[in-house]
Amino acid sequence: MQLTDDMQRVVTEQRLGFWATVGADGRPNLSPKATTDVWDDGHLWCADICSPRTVANIRAGSWAEINVVDPFVRKGFRFSGPVAVHGPGTPEFDDGTARLRAGGSTLVHRVCSILVLAVEAAAPLISPAYDAGTFTEAQARALHGARFARLGAAAAEREAAALTDDDRVHLGRCVELATEALDAGDEPFGSVLVDGAGSVRAEDRNRVVTDGDPTLHPEFELARWAARNLTVAERAAATVYTSGEHCPMCSAAHAWVGLGRVVYATSGAQLGGWLTGWGFAAGPVANLPITAIAPGVVVGGPDPTLADEVRALHARLHGKDG
Ligand SMILES: [Zn+2]
Repeated sequence: MQLTDDMQRVVTEQRLGFWATVGADGRPNLSPKATTDVWDDGHLWCADICSPRTVANIRAGSWAEINVVDPFVRKGFRFSGPVAVHGPGTPEFDDGTARLRAGGSTLVHRVCSILVLAVEAAAPLISPAYDAGTFTEAQARALHGARFARLGAAAAEREAAALTDDDRVHLGRCVELATEALDAGDEPFGSVLVDGAGSVRAEDRNRVVTDGDPTLHPEFELARWAARNLTVAERAAATVYTSGEHCPMCSAAHAWVGLGRVVYATSGAQLGGWLTGWGFAAGPVANLPITAIAPGVVVGGPDPTLADEVRALHARLHGKDG
């Protein structure tokens, strides 16, 4: 049958088709194929890069059904028909691999065969959300566009929060500095500034008691040190590690100075929870996450493996047994 312009548009736009086949034993196989495209106005195709089950089922006589759906408007098409498998040495194999190459594919050398489906049946796939006739494509696009944007942001956050072995080494040093501070009579916080090449350039610990200045947080001191000693580019490439997430004062200083990523062993929310649990009232400064003060700063942490150790330091500061 002839593919309509709309069918061809959706396939070409999405490129991701779910190919269903059935084995000789009756078992289904569903395989997403990101090379799904229009072959001509009566055929769809994809490259067999890693699809042994699909190809085996086709060779055993299975038709394929392909579903292509626009996930934003929740509309698409299902197509079915017999599939021809074209291996190396055939004109179709050369044609298909040439198309992939023209599209910039880096996987052409891994193509085993070109699968071409002769479309014998096609039907629209439309979300039941449209059944009442009041839901529009524009609404669907806005709804799912916002949802995918949130998913993308959450994935980026998970990636930034993931800690490397180097991160853990520096966080360990921060906890040592926090311990040093506590031993000296100060609050248990320690921080390290590491440059873009991975070298430790400065470190400090809390000194609010010994120096009699409640603003002597190590993160604030490192921001000032960076302003005096690093170029704008060096600051942006630097990472500040700290035993406890920056307070709003230090977050602001970090952002004003233009420092890069922050990685903390424990979060402000964790510390707030411990203090509340020990019966302390909230302090004079709001306990806000770094990103509430400095939304452009990339943040990593906390490191769950250090939570108990840091909590024990704060318990000792407040005369609690943990
Ligand atoms: Zn601070």
